Amino acid sequence: MTAPPRVLTVAGSDSGGGAGIQADLKTMLALGTHGMSVITAVTAQNSLGVRGAWPLPVEAVRAQYRSVVDDIGVQAVKTGMLASAELVEAVADLVGGTEAPVVVDPVGVSKHGDSLLAASALDSVRTRLLPLATVATPNLDEVAQLTGVRVESEEQLREAAAAVLAYGPQWALIKGGHLSGDAVDLLTDGTEEHWLRAPRLDNRHTHGTGCTLASAIAAELAKGRPVPEAVTAAKEYVTGAIAAGFALGGGIGPVDHGW
Ligand code: PLP
Repeated sequence: MTAPPRVLTVAGSDSGGGAGIQADLKTMLALGTHGMSVITAVTAQNSLGVRGAWPLPVEAVRAQYRSVVDDIGVQAVKTGMLASAELVEAVADLVGGTEAPVVVDPVGVSKHGDSLLAASALDSVRTRLLPLATVATPNLDEVAQLTGVRVESEEQLREAAAAVLAYGPQWALIKGGHLSGDAVDLLTDGTEEHWLRAPRLDNRHTHGTGCTLASAIAAELAKGRPVPEAVTAAKEYVTGAIAAGFALGGGIGPVDHGW
């Protein structure tokens, strides 16, 4: 059997299995790729929120990354929760050396309002990580945190994209899901514009949505698809996963990967 495309996630662990590394690996499997992981932080987490988060030593992150890349190789990389400035810098150093496409999900705060990135790391995300991204996938809270642009209408997604592109990613995918109405995202490289629209789904069990979308993009890029095609396929995947999201525990349940 020939090996499937290899995709690497550099992200945090969610003990509840809904987001982070766990969502990433499920997505990669569902999309026919071989998922691999560099764990940056361990979170104690369930459907009610994050009880604690422990970044791993930089050395452990470096060793995981080098082990995977030196032997197995990667056809796409996704970054998620990076926790601290020190880890953002270390991951930027590592990822800066890859020829593979890189999807940067600049994870800031969870749906429950728990911080997953130190405020002191924002500058490193802007100046070290975003310039390495083939696609950066901020939601509107992350856009506000990183650029100061506050989006309240669909038209303002353009302004948000321009502000993110100013930091150097090839493409910005601005996720407008927090606006009312349809779930509208804008993908642009500053020249082309792709508006991705999906009906708003009446399901509160959406834990892991952002991780799933970014991983799906990475999986499709690893198959060699161009960015607009990869993002369109990934949006379809995450829309199905949200539609199938299910109740678990007493809070917000996860999106589903087995639909
Ligand atoms: N936990 C980890 C480790 C994450 O990486 C993320 C998001 O990226 C979350 C939790 C938050 O997930 P959500 O905001 O979908 O609940």
